Amino acid sequence: MLPRPLHVVPFLVLAACASAQNPPPAGAAAPAQTPPGPRTIRFGDSVRNGELVPMFPGTTYDPKVPVPDSLLRQPLGTFTAHHAEILAALRAMAVGSPRMKIFTFGRTHEGRELVGVIIASTENMARLDAIKADLGKLADPRGVAQAELDRIVANTPAVAWLGFSIHGDEMSGADASLAVAYQFAAGTSADVTDVLKDVVIVIDPALNPDGRERILSQLEQSAGYVPNLDSDAMQRGRWPYGRGNHYLFDMNRDWMWGTQPETRARWAAIQGFHPQLLTDAHEMGGLDTYLFYPATDPFTPFFPEHTKTWWRVFAAEQGAAFDRYGWSYYTREWADSWYPGYTDSWGTFQGAVGILYEQARFAGQALRRASGEIATYREAVQHQAVSSVTNATTLAKHRKDVLAGFLAQKQQNCAAETAGNERMFVLVPGRHPARETRLVELLAGQGIEVTRADEAFSGAHVESTLAAREDAHAFPAGALVVPARQPLATLVKALLAFDPRYEQKSLDAERKELERKQNSKAYDVTAWSPAHAFDLDGFWCDAQEVRGAKVKTLEAPKSGLVPLPKADQPVYGWVVDGQDDRALAFAVQAMELELQVEICEEPFAIWTSATSDAKAEPIRRCPRGSLLVRRHENTADAAARVERAAKAAGVLAYAAGTARSADEGPDLGGQKFHLLARPRVALLSNNPVSTDNFGHAWHMLDNELGLPCSLVDAQELGGYDLRKYNVLVLPEGGGDLRAILKNNADSLKTWVEAGGTLIASGGSASALLGKELGFSSVRARPDALADLPKYADSVKREREAGKKPVDASRRTTRRTRRTTRRTRRARRRRTPTSSRVGTAGRARSRRAA
Ligand SMILES: [Zn+2]
Repeated sequence: MLPRPLHVVPFLVLAACASAQNPPPAGAAAPAQTPPGPRTIRFGDSVRNGELVPMFPGTTYDPKVPVPDSLLRQPLGTFTAHHAEILAALRAMAVGSPRMKIFTFGRTHEGRELVGVIIASTENMARLDAIKADLGKLADPRGVAQAELDRIVANTPAVAWLGFSIHGDEMSGADASLAVAYQFAAGTSADVTDVLKDVVIVIDPALNPDGRERILSQLEQSAGYVPNLDSDAMQRGRWPYGRGNHYLFDMNRDWMWGTQPETRARWAAIQGFHPQLLTDAHEMGGLDTYLFYPATDPFTPFFPEHTKTWWRVFAAEQGAAFDRYGWSYYTREWADSWYPGYTDSWGTFQGAVGILYEQARFAGQALRRASGEIATYREAVQHQAVSSVTNATTLAKHRKDVLAGFLAQKQQNCAAETAGNERMFVLVPGRHPARETRLVELLAGQGIEVTRADEAFSGAHVESTLAAREDAHAFPAGALVVPARQPLATLVKALLAFDPRYEQKSLDAERKELERKQNSKAYDVTAWSPAHAFDLDGFWCDAQEVRGAKVKTLEAPKSGLVPLPKADQPVYGWVVDGQDDRALAFAVQAMELELQVEICEEPFAIWTSATSDAKAEPIRRCPRGSLLVRRHENTADAAARVERAAKAAGVLAYAAGTARSADEGPDLGGQKFHLLARPRVALLSNNPVSTDNFGHAWHMLDNELGLPCSLVDAQELGGYDLRKYNVLVLPEGGGDLRAILKNNADSLKTWVEAGGTLIASGGSASALLGKELGFSSVRARPDALADLPKYADSVKREREAGKKPVDASRRTTRRTRRTTRRTRRARRRRTPTSSRVGTAGRARSRRAA
């Protein structure tokens, strides 16, 4: 029996070594440096491994603060650390450094922690609350004495908010955050201690942990023993990459909208500090070098001059720092400032100097450049770290002037005489309650003041979302008002503008580019008006100050059942108003609870009982698209299920006491109501589907509607039995998706003919048009230019139909009878449009029966 343990023991030792060399799973703490063991893949840089130069030569450090290299499984910057490893290393440094505090400000969809790391001199850390309160006064100087403001500018440190890797697969930033944290938490030489006299550092180490973990699993799974230096290799990531968060949202476009929990949490965290510098570390193509600001034109109207002025100062010192190492970099060649919802632009509109960094993307590995030079990931990390530390140092050097400029902007924003400050944005609520709430919450979430008017008021020089212009317009009490004149005036003006225009210089450049190269110079987002996006009744006007309470949200909608007035009266069914977006969620929830739901193709009204009284008022008038759950079509517990679905969706379901709709639209038992089929949704995913477009559809189906949906693989489309689904959603996709659709056209057509509903968006929709695939007789305009007169003629006939009075004396009875019969037959054959939209299969077979 003795020899056996001798065999077992070495095996256990080997297993322990092997597990220490592999990365820990997300969520686990990082082990210490690995002991030598059997051969396993070494992730990250495998080139020039022995040449680890210090990130900041010349700085001296407090030995009580552990060096990141000692806290990670490989030296910092030679690999891409997991989110949990970064947090564990930061927390270990914070234990050793009295200058460093970590706070949690949110969670991602996948539950990962979002943290801020505050680093300040011990004196400033001790008075951090007072510093934040003082900066709050500069951020909103209304009612604060000038002497007090001057004292704050003279004595209060500025705040640098240093953000990293909002695009999860632009990874060097998050690794660099450890180097920046160590520099400021442990540095004992004057290059660090002088900065901390004048600046409080807040590090946002990883803005998109879910995206980072997704790409990390791809990098690790495709890594090999032999380093790959090819910038295009799949070893640097594949669909859906790590740019977006869990639902693949680009959070560098989400600052104006706050659709994602990461953005909303960060809004609140940043506003707690009122930063004067906000940096945002990204990556670009692997063969590029390094870009930082000044940005290029076009600039969105109202873009603060304060930022433009300070960019030049920050750029000079950042350039000088790069020159000391002999690194390549450039400014102003791209990255325009048109869309105000990028991280740095949003930071600028909050009052900070917003600065973007773009490092060439190495994906945690060494890479061969076009010149043959082999660049290492550690160098990429060092570029990001040096940029952040240099910008924070510049802020310290110019602290007083930057704070004075920050205050001057806010005072100008609050001044009556500032151009445009007489304007206000007005939202007249009532038409889309869910969207109105969303708009108010997204404005208030960013710190914008919204007032609910106590009384009716009049506005002058009025523009509306419908591009109408009026000299005057009367607004009711309860209208929601966003005055331009407030501390965030420039953000209000830029964000809520109906129709911002390019400056002439940029227009000329755009035309030249279009005519010569047929390319747009526009970086990406060119339009954003939330009032238009949400289809709300929005106005811009001049008005006197409107009195009322400030609001951060609107009253939560009432939800549940509205019973009939008399408890003993039998219920015919329950109706949900289709005007509110939440009705869609009700339909989904109700069908998930196995209720039979009908949708109406015309407006109707619901009543307590059948009435012939012309003066009687209905319970409610409902627009086209409203929903009906009939009692006799459902089980005995229908009322309880309707109530559950209504509460889950946040809507009211009104009980109807009769199927009769008086004379207001169709009766509730008739042919204008169509049974909805419970959706069984397949959503096309994987290459070549657009990650954004796919993610947005997925987020809506899953997160907003609560609808189960199967993600199906575009590369395997022909292998699925589509009969399991009655809805197939095709997000935007490029030319390769057209080829996939072409290969599967016959089976898709058969499926559609059997009742399947195909929903296509963008390039997928255009792929289905025209003769090649033959899914639709609809043609794209460029394909139908020669036939435009024909289309114009039929549009004219459609418009004129019914306008000409019929001469009764010339009518023949026989012909009319035949026409009527034919029309009735055609109507019976026709598939109802609304039920096809809501998944047709069942509705159609029921009608055919
Ligand atoms: Zn990026």
